[in-house]
Amino acid sequence: MNLILLGAPGSGKGTQAERLIARFNLAHISTGDILRKAVRDQTPLGIEANRYMAAGELVPDSVVIGLVEERLGLPDTAAGYILDGFPRTTTQADALGALTDRLGRALHKVVYLEVGEEELVSRLLGRGRADDNEETIRTRLQVYRLQTEPLISYYEGKGLLARIPGTGTMDEITSRILAAVEG
Ligand code: AMP
Repeated sequence: MNLILLGAPGSGKGTQAERLIARFNLAHISTGDILRKAVRDQTPLGIEANRYMAAGELVPDSVVIGLVEERLGLPDTAAGYILDGFPRTTTQADALGALTDRLGRALHKVVYLEVGEEELVSRLLGRGRADDNEETIRTRLQVYRLQTEPLISYYEGKGLLARIPGTGTMDEITSRILAAVEG
């Protein structure tokens, strides 16, 4: 099972990814987690990436594409993978398509978690992560609308999109995802 979890910041991608990997033997590829670790470790990549992350902007495509290329090529992804927070631009999506073709790890489904704007803001404000202050949240939601939302029709056009209402209890949302990916 090779999946993308697509959705706005605060839509619950990370939480649902954790639940799916606990259930199936999938590699969890979160570009946000990889980047936050690089920031913590103060690697050159982390120092560079943090300038964008702290402002709520996207880290350049070439950087994140390189990270995913490295991660997706590891042997554990052969049993299936979940991409969480990647792709976020059509350039990233095109690069991913070429990469999965090359590796023979084609995508099966793109799970799109739909959550309304007001709900997103209140969830993000409640989360308390370093990049979750009000101004950064506004930037991140705007970046999402401009750069990432076009991926909904991109994957719809490829017949891969499953729209999942992202509200309700965590269990309800997980059940909806399971019905969409197993059905
Ligand atoms: P996330 O945990 O997915 O919300 O990511 C946190 C931050 O990491 C984002 O606001 C971006 O600055 C950066 N980031 C994560 N994934 C990507 C991506 N696919 N492309 C560009 N920047 C990313």
